[in-house]
Amino acid sequence: MKLVCRICGYTVEGDKAPEKCPICRAPGEGFEDYDLKQQPQEEQKPSGPPKEQVCSVCGYTCPGPYAPERCPICKAPPTAFNPVYGSSEQ
Ligand SMILES: [Zn+2]
Ligand SMILES: [Zn+2]
Repeated sequence: MKLVCRICGYTVEGDKAPEKCPICRAPGEGFEDYDLKQQPQEEQKPSGPPKEQVCSVCGYTCPGPYAPERCPICKAPPTAFNPVYGSSEQ
């Protein structure tokens, strides 16, 4: 299988991610299954701005609609953050 770095898009053959991305130095956890990524995902139509941003590398959650300039935990760039939209709970 193929793994792709979620931060810089670097791809590596094999079933194990490298310890660190040779391009952006993201830790191995920052890699994800390339094929999985290519599969169309359920399209969500978020309403309103994101409630928080979650770092895809370390899992740090940043409250607010914008990702920080750098993750305070793992220093990942804002592109590593995934927006979390509030559920229907009011
Ligand atoms: Zn990378
Ligand atoms: Zn992080």
